[in-house]
Amino acid sequence: MRNSAGIFTCRPFIFLGMVTLLLSLFLPMTALAHEKDEILLVNKENSLSADYVPDNLVYPNVSFSSDRESMQQHSANALEEMFAAASNDGVQLYAASGYRSYDYQADLYQYWVNRYGEERANQISAKPGESEHQTGLVMDVTSASVNYELVQSFGDTTEGQWVENNAANYGFIVRYPEGKQHITGYQYEPWHLRYVGADHAAEIAANNLTLEEYLSQDSSDGTRTYTIQAGDTFWKIANDHGTTVDQLLALNPDFDPLTLQIGDQILLPGDGSTNPDQPNEGTSYTVKAGDTFWGIASNYSDVTVQELMDANPDISPRYLSIGTTLTIPTSSDNQNGEQYVVATGNVWIHSTPDFTVDSRNGVLYNGERVELLGETTNMYQIPDGYVSKNYAEIVE
Ligand SMILES: [Zn+2]
Repeated sequence: MRNSAGIFTCRPFIFLGMVTLLLSLFLPMTALAHEKDEILLVNKENSLSADYVPDNLVYPNVSFSSDRESMQQHSANALEEMFAAASNDGVQLYAASGYRSYDYQADLYQYWVNRYGEERANQISAKPGESEHQTGLVMDVTSASVNYELVQSFGDTTEGQWVENNAANYGFIVRYPEGKQHITGYQYEPWHLRYVGADHAAEIAANNLTLEEYLSQDSSDGTRTYTIQAGDTFWKIANDHGTTVDQLLALNPDFDPLTLQIGDQILLPGDGSTNPDQPNEGTSYTVKAGDTFWGIASNYSDVTVQELMDANPDISPRYLSIGTTLTIPTSSDNQNGEQYVVATGNVWIHSTPDFTVDSRNGVLYNGERVELLGETTNMYQIPDGYVSKNYAEIVE
């Protein structure tokens, strides 16, 4: 009798225990994946409209390095908690810059353009609508040890280290980590904290991800999204991500690979591999199916298409054949005269329809360096949504 009673009392607990275990294994992942939809992604590809203004902006009750700035209510509360915890640890943080309106960002961007030109301005300032500060979910923080400035050396200070190690506990991430500029579009900014909530922040911090990577990770159907970049083709994407063109076509039946547009989002098989292995520099490379000069150069951190062409003068980038051996240059020490580093979307429109310069037909590649000659300074910016093929094409 005692035994059977024991069984009856035990069983529900065992059952509940298993359910709880299963739920704890399953729910956080699926719930998190689901809630990712609610995370606002703002970057150079995803901009906010001019009239996006959060309706719950408040001034967090923390120390500021100069004038007070606002944030959305819930992120302000989290910031207050974080600052209090830092203070308890003997770390004094100062808030510096929070919500910025579209118009403010427009003025700020114009200031940098006037001062350094558009090319440099794009590296250090967001264009209006592309600043995460417009979300009201961001606070730049600093410390006395760096003179209350927003500088990379903040990351090495006691305060910067505290932020790095503890921000996620309060729902914040260091939005532009070191070494991830090719993903975020921004240099390392140890001071720029973005609120995403504690669950997401913990996942992001534990896996050393950027917000872009986190939001494109596996969804419940085993796929993840990928945003088309300049120079992408299905071939290149398949090569870079260890899949095949056939698989990409099957996963993306609505996409015509010949008219891929920058910013389009396609599905990749969710195998978790995001980056191609970086081959060694100063060696040779054997051309594979689907390779382009642009694609090959982009696999090396410090090799531009121009340098690749210079190192392989006998090989036409337009007629790369499989099995060709390319020399990969080691360094860029051939910088004569004034040069301009081509940005995504720049196309060289020759002043006369005379493409005798070389075999490139006036095409400029992302990252390529060109000499600024009088007749070739006419740069053309590809509008958003321009078709991205193996290379940026002349549009007129
Ligand atoms: Zn910032």
